[in-house]
Amino acid sequence: MPNMILVDEIGYHQNDPKTALFRGEGEVEFAVIDAGNGSEVFRGKAGMEYDCTAAGEKHRVLRFDEVNTPGEYFIQVGEEKSVTFLIADNVYTEAMKSMLKFFYLQRCGEDLPKQYAGIYAHPACHTTKARIYNTEEFIDANGGWHDAGDYGRYIVPAAVTIADLFLALENAPELGNLNYDTPALLLDEIRYEIEWMLKLQDPKSGEVYHKVSCAGFCDFFMPEEEKEELVVSPTSYTSTLDFAASLAMAVIFYEPVDPDFAKKLAEASVKAYDAALKMEAVGFHNPEGVVTGEYGDEGLEDELYWASAELYKAFGDEKYRKTFEDMAYTHISHGYGWEDVFSFGNIAYITTDREVDETLKGIIKAAIDAKADSLMYLCRSNGYGVSFNEKSFIWGSNMYLIQNASHLMEAYKLTKKQEYLNMALEHVHYIFGKNPCNVSFLTGFGKNLVKNPHHRPSAARKEAMPGMVIGGPDSGLHDPTAIKHCTGNPPAKCYVDELFSYSTNEITLYWNSAMILLLAQIEEANR
Ligand SMILES: [Zn+2]
Repeated sequence: MPNMILVDEIGYHQNDPKTALFRGEGEVEFAVIDAGNGSEVFRGKAGMEYDCTAAGEKHRVLRFDEVNTPGEYFIQVGEEKSVTFLIADNVYTEAMKSMLKFFYLQRCGEDLPKQYAGIYAHPACHTTKARIYNTEEFIDANGGWHDAGDYGRYIVPAAVTIADLFLALENAPELGNLNYDTPALLLDEIRYEIEWMLKLQDPKSGEVYHKVSCAGFCDFFMPEEEKEELVVSPTSYTSTLDFAASLAMAVIFYEPVDPDFAKKLAEASVKAYDAALKMEAVGFHNPEGVVTGEYGDEGLEDELYWASAELYKAFGDEKYRKTFEDMAYTHISHGYGWEDVFSFGNIAYITTDREVDETLKGIIKAAIDAKADSLMYLCRSNGYGVSFNEKSFIWGSNMYLIQNASHLMEAYKLTKKQEYLNMALEHVHYIFGKNPCNVSFLTGFGKNLVKNPHHRPSAARKEAMPGMVIGGPDSGLHDPTAIKHCTGNPPAKCYVDELFSYSTNEITLYWNSAMILLLAQIEEANR
């Protein structure tokens, strides 16, 4: 029996606005109960009724902002009770640590000792040299993080992941000192990925190989058991520009701590950018015989847009500025995904200390606010308070939902409109359990847990690795398991906690990094 009362199953920051959801019809009175002693601490009436077509339900918002004494609580409506949740300061700190630790646990190419990795410990994996596709040439492509539920390592999502993490550090610098029970702090962890990325740049041309993986996906065993030949897929326009952009960001962070490394990154970034300008701007497609993650992309303007803005911010060369400004005057768009990276470009341009076109800067800020305003329209259309409608539940829907919230936070930073922050928080609550699927989409956290993520180490050890953000509902039903379990479901409920539902129950590096960025933005706003 699904819960009638949905809450953020981790909890609420004591000073934040607080909402739960009652899934049912009619007038409703609710009580907030102290789970420790059973006493009622608040009584209220539910808000207006929403008819939510995306979730196929009617529901009402239960608002209890006044409850701000730290403790454990539940909500009661008649005989119905919610799961218990916390109200606390730093309520998401443990979740944040676990989401950060995930990157360490995804490390490829070195031993993960029990001391840090627990049941996910394993000897070094994927340590052989990799064949450059269709050649007799082999290169060292070891290291980096496994991308997702599989063991491939791909440049495009890697670049976006580290970009999210750098922005998180920009918003909440204290993340750089947070100890989350691994041998590395965050900047060292990101460096582990960058050292691998550097290996994928062709030293002669400066172009960057799209990915390294086996030709196909392996069975559900630990990574060191995957013994097929590693293949380096051809270079691509998108991987080369994303590499240039993300390494330009990295320069700013490593300069103060390791100037020699920063210099190496700067050279690699500039070389990649120059190489990309000589490449044909076409999307990547898997070469014949390789079927792992494609990360193909047909919209190719945004990669140049992002890279030009980051290289101008990092290096100050006027040619980057001109390329960005010419493109921005034609078309301002948004997006934090691996496919659409416009927002990274916008942020780089409006945050650089270098000279910029102030008129254009104003136009970009206004465009960010306008987009946030359109998201607010969606947020007001449902009781969950999220910027989604029935068409929004596509593959990786949780990522888009989190990124919309990040956009609201970016707009909040510029405008200080409180409603942007409040609605961004609703997106956090959605991920942590206040959603139509009645599950916390962060493994290991909450009460209704995801148990069978599409993630090979979790499957091999028969226990979901904690700290992973799940893909979420996909009404496109892109795998046989989803078709079997979700046919006929409303879009927001096209989710199934089954290992083989890769289209709804997988995990990725850049879903975790997106959530880390969102929490860092909220942290910064609350400071
Ligand atoms: Zn590996």
